Amino acid sequence: MHSYRITPLKTGTIVVDQGAYVTRGIGLGIEVGIPGTAWYVTDGRRKIMVDAGMCPTELADWHHKGSRQDPGEAVHEQLQALGVDPSEIELVILTHLHWDHCHNLDKFSRARFLVHSRELAFARDPIPPYYKSYEHQRLGCLPPYAEIPLETIAGEAEILPGITIFPTPGHSPGHQSVAVATEAGVHVIAGDAVFSYANLVPASEHLPFTVMGRFSDIVESWRSMEEIVRRGKVILPGHDMRVMDHPVYPTGIKI
Ligand SMILES: [Zn+2]
Repeated sequence: MHSYRITPLKTGTIVVDQGAYVTRGIGLGIEVGIPGTAWYVTDGRRKIMVDAGMCPTELADWHHKGSRQDPGEAVHEQLQALGVDPSEIELVILTHLHWDHCHNLDKFSRARFLVHSRELAFARDPIPPYYKSYEHQRLGCLPPYAEIPLETIAGEAEILPGITIFPTPGHSPGHQSVAVATEAGVHVIAGDAVFSYANLVPASEHLPFTVMGRFSDIVESWRSMEEIVRRGKVILPGHDMRVMDHPVYPTGIKI
């Protein structure tokens, strides 16, 4: 029985329109600050990251005006504050390759990097509305993952005992989520397959979820939410400030 602990790291704040990004059509015109989240996962021996979070303020502000990364918020700085040297991380699982999930990968000098093959293919050749999301070369950017030796996977895999990666497309074409065994049941690190706890609230009697604002395929996105809820006793969404209410998951354990 494997038992991991999960520490959410807020790598910055992204300013978005609630109704355009978080809950489709609900809260249009309301600006909200959402965290750029990365996750440190350990059983005391293995040290794993799920995503690496976002970039410094100047670039974040280009993506979404007003977004920022305050001093000390970069992923490697936060790990060091926890007493973890980034070079100790053995595995970085990337839920997808949008800009706010994969900066500072070069800090993980000894890690393997895993991304879904479909995500990497789309990131290399996206449709134009997604150039910015991937910081694509066609905008004169160097994508944050460009010089990182990414390994691809396709489909479900228990990549380490108690750590299962499974496909959750829809927010992006090759999105994946991570089911983590803990002493309080399976916690699913959803990535942006579940943007916010608000997405898990029924929109009406016949709608068990509230649709996200951003998706590449709404049908896949819906199916992915169903799959995540089926697997997880606890769901950890990608962009909800409330996940930071707890320094570690599962909650209620001594650090
Ligand atoms: Zn995101």
